[in-house]
Amino acid sequence: MSSDCIFCRIAAGEIPARLARQDEEIVAFHDVAPQAPVHLLVIPRRHLARLDQTTPQDAALLGRMVRTAIELATETGCADGFRLVWNCGEPAGQSVFHLHLHLLGGRPMSWPPG
Ligand code: AMP
Repeated sequence: MSSDCIFCRIAAGEIPARLARQDEEIVAFHDVAPQAPVHLLVIPRRHLARLDQTTPQDAALLGRMVRTAIELATETGCADGFRLVWNCGEPAGQSVFHLHLHLLGGRPMSWPPG
């Protein structure tokens, strides 16, 4: 855990968040500034700053994060159409440097993304 990381602190229960799911490895919670009717963040408890800092040993974790997001899409009623987003690095829009997967749904979405 990184004590100056806001998502580590959410995972540790030190900062409040609207939790959707948690287990020994993964926590999912509602984004504080939702960009869609459904906007959840799926994070690992382990501090990893960026998607490109993961290694082949993290493949199972990444798969579990994706599966968690898919299951949450069903639970939140947007299984018919949803978007999963990983922002990696500031130019791509990453603002919190603890690995997270966005689940967005509940409205029509355009392409390309901004
Ligand atoms: P990104 O821009 O991909 O790094 O996404 C970071 C996301 O974290 C943004 O959508 C923020 O709204 C969200 N966020 C930041 N702080 C919190 C918080 N304390 N609780 C929930 N979501 C947060």
